[in-house]
Amino acid sequence: MTYQNYSLKQLQQIDAAHHLHPFTDHKELREAGSRIISHANGPFIYDSEGAEILDGMAGLWCVNIGYGRDELAEAAYAQMKELPYYNSFFKCSTPTPVLLSKKLAEIAPKHVNQVFYGSSGSEANDTALRLVRHYWVLEGKPEKNRIISRKMAYHGSTVAGTSLGGMDAMHKQLGGAVPNIVHVMMPYAYELALPGESDHDFGLRAAKAVEDAILEAGADKVAAFIGEPVMGAGGVKIPPASYWPEVQRICRKYDVLLMLDEVITGYGRTGEWFAAQTLGIEPDTITTAKALTSGYQPLSALLVGDRITSTLVEKGGEFNHGYTYSGHPVACAVALKNLEIIEKEGLVERVRNDTGPYFAKALQERIAGHDLVGEVRSIGLMGAIEIVKDKATKERFLPSGSAAVIVRDHAIANGMMLRATGDTMILSPPLIWTRDTIDMACERIAKALDLAKADLRKR
Ligand SMILES: *Cc1c(COP(=O)(O)O)cnc(C)c1O
Repeated sequence: MTYQNYSLKQLQQIDAAHHLHPFTDHKELREAGSRIISHANGPFIYDSEGAEILDGMAGLWCVNIGYGRDELAEAAYAQMKELPYYNSFFKCSTPTPVLLSKKLAEIAPKHVNQVFYGSSGSEANDTALRLVRHYWVLEGKPEKNRIISRKMAYHGSTVAGTSLGGMDAMHKQLGGAVPNIVHVMMPYAYELALPGESDHDFGLRAAKAVEDAILEAGADKVAAFIGEPVMGAGGVKIPPASYWPEVQRICRKYDVLLMLDEVITGYGRTGEWFAAQTLGIEPDTITTAKALTSGYQPLSALLVGDRITSTLVEKGGEFNHGYTYSGHPVACAVALKNLEIIEKEGLVERVRNDTGPYFAKALQERIAGHDLVGEVRSIGLMGAIEIVKDKATKERFLPSGSAAVIVRDHAIANGMMLRATGDTMILSPPLIWTRDTIDMACERIAKALDLAKADLRKR
């Protein structure tokens, strides 16, 4: 590798001088220097200090089959030699996206049978936004173009992704969002349920916010509702069981399309191929990316339901949208191999029947009781730990988010990569984790919590 001519120290200096990073305060980064991850294997990553770190985030919610998979490298190599690139515009196609589309139609919910490719989740959501609006134009209802989303939703970082998303800090820097997108409350019982309100009732109330937004605009003005089945970057917010069935009922009642963003939950994370299957949702579009290739290549797939595609086909006319790398042959070859490995190793079933339940139990038994922990929750292999000053009152440490960063830094120093978002620690391990790996993670997290508690007491 060419980087091996440089010391990691030199790489850090060059990084600070020339490389602008995503979601980063560059003043802080230059003072601290970046953590350079130079190699990885199985569930472990290795950093510029030479430390071995258990990767509790699967990269960034994506490396579901773990690192160091030769078969994926070989699939990419073979495809690059045979056909590194050709476009899928102008009635052309190449074999790997064709075969990947067939595979995706097989594992997706029954009524979802078509795929539109991009290179990132953000791009796929841009496609989804255009597609649902185009659908209503084709149906003769061009004014039915409003999209309802949720506060704190994350749908990517392009202009369309940011507009669909509900992150205030991102909107502040946008200088004007894509018009006609509104954001309603999120289904986050831990903070938003009223005193004495059951989870069930709270879920119905959060769903009612969707209905209120439809009624406010008028159903003939609302194209679709978009949501992550479980909000990921917003803090692994698992909605009450009453939420999604009610949202679905409301969407059907007012003939509003249902768009699911499964960029995190897709490809096994919740114990089914898609969270739509875990939660019993029948969406019109499913945005996927990240774990589609386990992060070994950038690739997104917008899965499109039959209702939309039949209109596209029947009414005809060009859908004026697409990317140079839509259906990239190398990325699709890697995705095919990745899905084959997930299947061969039974990783989805393992999450559903073994590691998912074990992970939930381990968080409950070994983390939930800690003084700094207000709540733990998980679904499949995604989990959250709420950091609080007072368990009973749910009071947080101030300034907001500061305690979680202390926990995170101790965790990383103790060989455990996890993420802090606001006051919530989030986990999204590779699906190859075993019970032993989960035990190791819990041990390291508990230790980080102890060390953080000591720090916070001193403060
Ligand atoms: C990561 C993510 C995206 C954006 O994907 P990119 O590949 O970063 O563009 C969109 N939606 C959700 C739910 C995500 O987690």
